[in-house]
Amino acid sequence: MEKNIRQLDEIIWQLDLRVDNETEFIAPYLIKAQNDYIIVDVGPTCGIPELIRQLNILNVTPSNLKYVFLTHIHLDHSGGLGTFLKSFPETQVVVHRRGTPHLVDPEKVLWQSSLDTLGWVAEMYQKPLPVEEERIISIHEKTFNIKVNDLEFNWIETPGHASHHFSFLLENKNIMFCGDSVGMLIPSLNFAMVPTTPHPYRMESGIESINLMIEKKPEKLAFAHHAIRPDAMNLLKKHIAQLQQWKNCVEDCLKKNIKTEEDIGVEISKLDEESARLINGPEEFGGLRKALIGSITGFINLVLKEKTEAEG
Ligand SMILES: [Zn+2]
Repeated sequence: MEKNIRQLDEIIWQLDLRVDNETEFIAPYLIKAQNDYIIVDVGPTCGIPELIRQLNILNVTPSNLKYVFLTHIHLDHSGGLGTFLKSFPETQVVVHRRGTPHLVDPEKVLWQSSLDTLGWVAEMYQKPLPVEEERIISIHEKTFNIKVNDLEFNWIETPGHASHHFSFLLENKNIMFCGDSVGMLIPSLNFAMVPTTPHPYRMESGIESINLMIEKKPEKLAFAHHAIRPDAMNLLKKHIAQLQQWKNCVEDCLKKNIKTEEDIGVEISKLDEESARLINGPEEFGGLRKALIGSITGFINLVLKEKTEAEG
């Protein structure tokens, strides 16, 4: 089998798009439901040729790819959708209702805000093309159930990382596809768990979302970046503690006038051994490290906002 394609289960594959030549950065999941397929996120525009090449190898065709399930619409998950759907004219997209207008008209908000927050990373991802509205199934409720042949999916709204975030439980396997709502998990850094809390991060809803996932008692977690891991319940609880630790650390730093993301990162790495592996990690983790710096920005803004509110 191709080295960028990993079969994780009899019905689940992970397709590493090698975006920016990084492994373990962006890797959509492919799920087989009898004779049909579902893809979970498609990655950015620049990764679509590689995604289509891998799908060809796996005999995924326009007639058997039923759905794209989007966890959320950030460029690294949905940016390539408009380009991708040109090759899959019958495939439907399931996404949070708040994401739909931005997929249909990505130019204004999605692309511009991505350029602002991601800088060179957005340029590297490339601009998203618009998606036709009739291809989209918008989820308006907080939960949503969908059956695809023999597989049952139970979607739950999980805001925090983004207001338009959904996670879903593949009930047959008891795997929770948690997108970016439980941070990232990096196999080659000895399974380091690192928060994904970009601005505007909402910690209260983030933790509430994790608690909703805990209520579902999943066995495994499928992180969008970038692994399926057992012991889901412990990971979920561990992540709540990690978020609290980061917030406390950022509060302390700002009190001591330690203000830049890099300097705060040094302080975080003294407390959080797992994040330290990425903070001090090798250069080839540029994209993931950029995400980590963005997570620190999210906490800085969160702490400053709370401070202003308390003073106001
Ligand atoms: Zn992401």
